[in-house]
Parts: sequence; C-alpha cells; structure tokens
Amino acid sequence: MEIFEEIKPLRTFLAGKRNGGLSIGLVPTMGALHQGHLSLIEASMADNDLTVASIYINPTQFNNSSDLDNYPRTKEEDLKLLEQIGCNVLFMPSNAEMYAGTQNLKFDFGTLDKILEGKFRPGHFSGVALVVSKLFNIVCPNRAYFGQKDYQQYKVISRLNDELKFFVDLRSVPIVREKTGLALSSRNQRLSQEGKKNALLLVESLNYAKTEINRGGEFKKLKKEIEVRFQGVKEMKLEYLELADKHTLESMDQVAKPEDAILLIAAFVGEVRLIDNMMIREEV
Ligand code: AMP
Repeated sequence: MEIFEEIKPLRTFLAGKRNGGLSIGLVPTMGALHQGHLSLIEASMADNDLTVASIYINPTQFNNSSDLDNYPRTKEEDLKLLEQIGCNVLFMPSNAEMYAGTQNLKFDFGTLDKILEGKFRPGHFSGVALVVSKLFNIVCPNRAYFGQKDYQQYKVISRLNDELKFFVDLRSVPIVREKTGLALSSRNQRLSQEGKKNALLLVESLNYAKTEINRGGEFKKLKKEIEVRFQGVKEMKLEYLELADKHTLESMDQVAKPEDAILLIAAFVGEVRLIDNMMIREEV
C-alpha cells in the first residue's frame, strides 16, 4: 500500500494512474477502522482499479472539543487492516496539510443541515462538506463510498456533489452490525462492557418502532414508550428519535408510503454519543 501524508505527491501519483486509464474509488474515514469501514473499501475495490482510503480526524466537523480529543486513534491497527484487505493507497494528512492558510469556508444546506444531527451538532455538516470537498478535489475520484449509518451525511454530500458539480459517482453502503445488532462505530471502542449492553437500546428501539409501524402503530405513541425506556436506564440519554421521509429527511408522524420512511436515532451512552437508523421497509 502506498501511503501519502501530503497532497501534492498524492495528486501526482493519482494523475499518473488516471492518465493510465485507471478508475479511482475514494473511501473517506476518520480511522479506528472496523468492519463497517472495510465493507466500504471492499465495495470500492470491487468497482475500481485503485482504491484510496483516507484517515483524517477532521477538526472542523467536531462541535465539541472533548469529543475530538477522545476520538479513538488506532494508527498501527488501521495500517494492518488496510494492508490485509489490499487497499492500494492511504492518504493520512496532518491538520496543517488540510487547513493551513485557509479560512474554513462555511456551507449552508438550508433545512437539511439544521435538522436531526444538525440540530444537536451545529456546524457539523459544514465541516463535513468542507473536508469532503477538499478530498474530492485532491483525489478526483470516479466513485466515493459512504456508509448508510451516517444517512443524513450521505444526503448532505449528495447535495454538495450536485451543487458544486463534482460529478463523483456516490455510493451508499449498508450498515454493518455486530451479531447483537449494534451498529459498528469507532466510538463503540469507548464503551464499557455495561455501556455496550446499554447501547443495544438504540437498535432495539429502531426494531421495535419499525415492527410496530409496519403493524399500523402510531409513531407518537411508540416514541413516548421508547423515551420512557431510555429514562429507565441511568447512563442513557436519548437526543432524538424521528420518523422521516428518506428522500427529504422531513419528520413525519404517520407513514403514508412505508417504502419511503426511515427511523433515525441518536443517544448518549454515558459520554459516548451514538447514532443509528433503519428503513421501515428494508429487509434486515
Ligand atoms: P467515520 O470514520 O466514522 O467517519 O466513517 C467513515 C465512513 O464509514 C462513513 O461513510 C460512515 O458512514 C461509514 N461507516 C461507519 N460505520 C459504519 C457501519 N457500521 N456500517 C457501514 N458503514 C459505516
């Protein structure tokens, strides 16, 4: 695997590959890699001649400095996993390389970046859009791969891609879960054993709400029940549970078309904030 820490040599290397007719897939990550990340890399390797993974903990997308400080960093293990899977290129820039001499452009996606995650993490999606724009310009990928786990992020990046005419072919990859149902996340590394058990309340709530909605249950009532369940576990704090249109992410109380509806959840397990989501009509 070729490893680059600087933009210019990476661009020169990739230009050579592109001129040689090779297609390039990009998988942006913040490291602390797990099977979810690897599924994106596998998808990219299947579609492209060359896969570029990036590991960069982007400071502008963190609205909370302790979350940034405590974000897991597992460089050695990450390198091993990427080598094992056969990833071709790793880009792991410093903050200076990505941001020195720039003024942090701000993005505004209207309601899309103010609801759900945006409501609880102001500025988060502006930071995501900024770093993804930089990565798209640095790598010029044919395709880029993102997890369905960060569903709203995918919507924001789709808008970014359309509005700024990047013409990157965006791919959304299904959520990888543990056997227990817990969605894999780098942040899971920060959970205690007890915390990991408690964290199952997120996926259990989604499963419960999904089943009941498919049986004609009323979302408002289900949400109240779920809120009570969260209140019953000391270290858990529900930030939101919403039923939304999967295209616009507008909240709804009732499902008109089940195939268009998605449930999204965010909650704290102690200090660790987790998110998850589930389609109402997706086979699990
Ligand atoms: P992160 O390193 O958390 O920024 O995630 C990098 C990419 O991996 C994003 O596109 C995430 O949506 C994706 N990802 C994270 N967790 C999972 C998962 N459990 N299943 C699938 N994709 C994931």
